[in-house]
Amino acid sequence: MTQRHAQRSLALMLTVILAAALTLSFIGFKVSEGTSLAYLADRGRQRLDLYETSLEREIDKYAFFPATLGLERDVVDLLVNGGEDQRRRINRYLSELNKRAGSLSIYVLDSRGHVIAASNWDQPDSFIGEDLSYRPYFHDAMAKRTGRFFGIGTTRGQPGYYLASPILVDEHAMGVAVVKVSLEQLETSWSTVEAPVLVTDENGVVILASVPSWKFTTLTPLSEERRRDLAQSLHYNARPLPPLGLKSLGVVGFGADEIVQLVRPEAEASQAFPVSGLFLSQSAPLRGTDWRLTVLSPFGDLRTMAWLNAALAAAGGVILGVAMIALYQLRVRTWERLRAREALQRAHDELERKVEERTRTLKEAQDELVHAGKLAVIGQMSAGLAHELNQPLAALHTLSDNAVKFMQRGLPGEAESNLKLISELVTHMGTLTSQLKSFARKSTGMPRPVDVRRSMENALFFLDRRLSQRSIRPEIDVEPDDLAVLADANRLEQILVNLLANAIDAVEGVEEPRLHLSVRRDGARVRIEVRDNGPGLSQSVRSRLFEPFFTTKDSGGGLGLGLAISAGIARDFGGSLSALDIDDGGALFVLELPSALASETIDA
Ligand code: ADP
Repeated sequence: MTQRHAQRSLALMLTVILAAALTLSFIGFKVSEGTSLAYLADRGRQRLDLYETSLEREIDKYAFFPATLGLERDVVDLLVNGGEDQRRRINRYLSELNKRAGSLSIYVLDSRGHVIAASNWDQPDSFIGEDLSYRPYFHDAMAKRTGRFFGIGTTRGQPGYYLASPILVDEHAMGVAVVKVSLEQLETSWSTVEAPVLVTDENGVVILASVPSWKFTTLTPLSEERRRDLAQSLHYNARPLPPLGLKSLGVVGFGADEIVQLVRPEAEASQAFPVSGLFLSQSAPLRGTDWRLTVLSPFGDLRTMAWLNAALAAAGGVILGVAMIALYQLRVRTWERLRAREALQRAHDELERKVEERTRTLKEAQDELVHAGKLAVIGQMSAGLAHELNQPLAALHTLSDNAVKFMQRGLPGEAESNLKLISELVTHMGTLTSQLKSFARKSTGMPRPVDVRRSMENALFFLDRRLSQRSIRPEIDVEPDDLAVLADANRLEQILVNLLANAIDAVEGVEEPRLHLSVRRDGARVRIEVRDNGPGLSQSVRSRLFEPFFTTKDSGGGLGLGLAISAGIARDFGGSLSALDIDDGGALFVLELPSALASETIDA
């Protein structure tokens, strides 16, 4: 692998890991945030329901009050007839009722909106005689609607909830009964809750809040005009109504929930819950009012958890990426190993093919050499052969000439005997040439049972002239007589001719030359020995004996191929050729070949 390549794949790996980490961390964050938000929304919704019912219950407790007051005969009487006694009695009654109900105040307005009786009649800040016709609840009640209003009292500046009902005489609104209740009780119980909760009125002004300082702030900034109107109606008793400072960060779920950011002064941090940061804002309208109840569930460590989960997922991504790369590399390596093994196999096959080819070439070359060796022997023999053939040819010439003369002289008997001699000579010559032909022929090489004695006799026949020239009488000793080997007749003869020719050369100049041939069975093999009483084999000669072209003979005397070829042939047939030096001088060549059953012998 080159360095550039390595760098490239490293960069690729890092990209893969980074991509996996980023993707998983994104998913991790989203999933974590999603589930946490869903949980938060669930809890918030539950709180919202809980606070809503408790607030409604608190309001409902007083809701029937003004209506029942309208049924009091004394109250109606006061409205219709007036009278100081009656007024005093009603005042006392309202005062008692107010004490028992725990409301802030109870009072009665006449049709002009003037207070004619009040529970606080004997207090210095009594409402008696006050004109409250500007209060919307008065108009609502006079129009025979239930008046509900959150406002701040102009006298004491006390915030409260006003519930008003018309006092009807013959279906005619003669006056209005009002109960002002404080919801502060509820507020104080809220201060222990885990999340800020607030109630906004129809103007978007916070009228109740679990954080006291949030009261009389607005969720959305008021327009100048609206501010002026509200100041005029003394609705909030000239409070400045600053914005709470909620910033919407987007809507979640089905649009009812909102993620908001709130930044509030440190002073509020004494609460049981966080007052700054991210919140899930959920709100619902309050039944029977124009108000909305809002619960702000703090995100707390939701985002932190999400980031933590994202980091965990990223770590998972890295591990996954690394694992993926490792797996990939393993596969690549396995693939490479497979390829290497294939290449090796191919190389092996190729080598085997080449070896086979070389062997074949070698075999062919060897065959050629065998053939050449034979031809060399024939060359050597040609002079002898010429002599061998010339003699009978000359004899034939004389015999046939004489036969003609005998016929002319009328001596058929002599002519006949001459012709017989001619026939014998021709037969002899034919044998000679046929032997030569079979020797020169290239053998096919398929091993077949070969009669050893016959091969031996053929070989001796070739060398007959050289043997008789040197008056050598070979001793032949074959036991049993019909031993056969698995070989090729021509090739076996070739080996024997080589061994015998060498032996004849070796005994050159020996006073009593001797040549001994013996054939014996040796287990599954047949052992053919050729022994002479020549000079024998020196150590240095023996070590190189079977080398091709090793010869000690004069130039033209030998090619140095005979033994090399012979050993090769013996090996081809699963046998061996070896040389031994014998004690009483001379050389011993041992040819071993696989034995064949004599009955299977095929004539060469
Ligand atoms: P060549 O006969 O052409 O030299 P060979 O391979 O037949 O080739 O023989 C190689 C050599 O082995 C001969 O030159 C000779 O020195 C030695 N040699 C072979 N046979 C005999 C033997 N019977 N006695 C002594 N030396 C021998």
